[in-house]
Amino acid sequence: DAVPVLTVDGPGGAGKGTISGLVAERLGWHLLDSGALYRLTAQAAAKHGVALDDEPQLARLAAELDVAFPVEEGRPLVLLEGEDVTRVIRRETVGERASQIAALPEVRQALLQRQRDFRKAPGLVADGRDMGTVVFPEAPLKIFLTASAQERARRRHLQLQKAGVDASLSSLLKEIQARDARDMQRSVAPLKPADDAITLDTTRLSIPEVVERLTELLAQRG
Ligand code: C5P
Repeated sequence: DAVPVLTVDGPGGAGKGTISGLVAERLGWHLLDSGALYRLTAQAAAKHGVALDDEPQLARLAAELDVAFPVEEGRPLVLLEGEDVTRVIRRETVGERASQIAALPEVRQALLQRQRDFRKAPGLVADGRDMGTVVFPEAPLKIFLTASAQERARRRHLQLQKAGVDASLSSLLKEIQARDARDMQRSVAPLKPADDAITLDTTRLSIPEVVERLTELLAQRG
C-alpha cells in the first residue's frame, strides 16, 4: 500500500487528538481517531446492556458498530446508530469503560480492519495506542507523544474548566494514572513506542511547536 501513514501513539492527554487533527488538516490527509472506536463500542455496550466482560458480544458490537463521522457547520460530529454522541463519548466514565474493553483481544481483532480501511489517498494520520505497533506497523513515520502525568492532568483540568465542568486536579491525576497503568500492562497491544518510533515529550512544548516539529519530521522522511 503506497498511501502514506503517520502514526501518533501515546498515553491519554498527551495532546494526540489535537495535534493529529491539526497535522491532518495542514496536510489535507484523512484522520483516524482510533480511541473513538473503542469509546463507541463501550457506549454501544451501555446502550444495549452488554456486560463489560462479555467478550463475544462486545466483539460482535465492535464488528457491527453503526457509526458516522459527518461534519456539520464545520464541526466534526460522531453519530452512533444515528444519535449524536460527540460529547457523551468524551466523558471520563466512557474512557474508563473503553480502556476496560480495549484489553479484550476479540474486541481489538474486530476493530482491526475497520481501522485499516481509513488508509486512503492522499494520506492518513492515525491517532491511538497501537497505531505504530499493530495497526500500521509499516508506517514510514511513527511518533510517540508523551507528557508527564501531572501536565496531562493539568491540561485536562483546563479543558474541563473551559467546558464548565467541575473536577478536582487530584482525582483527574488518579484517573490518568489508572488508565495509563491499564493501557501499558495489558497483554494485547499494550501502550508502548514502536521500536522505530520517535518519542516526543510535549510537557514543555506548545501545540504549534509540536505541529511544527511533526511537519519537519515528515518533510525529512518524505
Ligand atoms: O484515546 P482515547 O482516550 O480516546 O482512548 C480511549 C481508550 O481506548 C484508551 O484508554 C485505550 O484503552 C483504548 N485505545 C486502545 N487502542 C487505541 C486507541 C484507544 O486500546 N488504538
